[in-house]
Amino acid sequence: SSFEELGLPKSILDGLLAMNFKKPSKIQERALPLMVSDPPRNMIAQSQSGTGKTAAFVLTVLSRVDFNKPTQPQALLLAPSRELARQIQGVIQQVGQFCENLIVNAAIPGSISRETGVKASIVVGTPGTVMDLIRRRQFDVSQLKVLVIDEADNMLDQQGLGDQCIRVKGMLPRTIQILLFSATFPDKVMSYARKFAPNANEIKL
Ligand code: AMP
Repeated sequence: SSFEELGLPKSILDGLLAMNFKKPSKIQERALPLMVSDPPRNMIAQSQSGTGKTAAFVLTVLSRVDFNKPTQPQALLLAPSRELARQIQGVIQQVGQFCENLIVNAAIPGSISRETGVKASIVVGTPGTVMDLIRRRQFDVSQLKVLVIDEADNMLDQQGLGDQCIRVKGMLPRTIQILLFSATFPDKVMSYARKFAPNANEIKL
């Protein structure tokens, strides 16, 4: 299969070309058609790092964003560390390098000015900082279409992060599409995951 067949816009296909991504990896081939379809369905995807999972959820996020509203938050991605949040932000900027008006904010400690708040269509952050920004009304979540949780095994299991993820989700629109990605889903985490992302498609590589 090919990226063209997925119906991705030309700007995104150009980004993939520039990155020299010639065809979808296995996880991309299996997960992308399910994630970009309408009406949106939740996804629980198990895939080792190195398999192309970051690009899989980044492509889904980019396909759901309306670039005519560059400062209206439409996608939120959560990661367990600042470093991973920054890495994901970098991948979004690379894949989206030809998307006009693409603005990505990192919502990590110290990165968002108190005066302006979040002014981006895509937000990548750590759960504690994201929660603070929403509570202080510096992050308008009312138009979010998609929530991605990377390293879901760490994010949903660990006492603190799990609680924070559940609280953040509680502040988001009820109809938001939820995508959970992880290298492993131990049984306990899988039961949390199924509560967090109800009726999800499930993929295991
Ligand atoms: P990840 O699983 O997200 O850690 O990605 C592993 C590596 O695969 C990264 O260096 C990506 O740049 C690369 N990659 C992801 N998707 C593709 C693709 N379709 N074709 C070639 N390389 C890819």
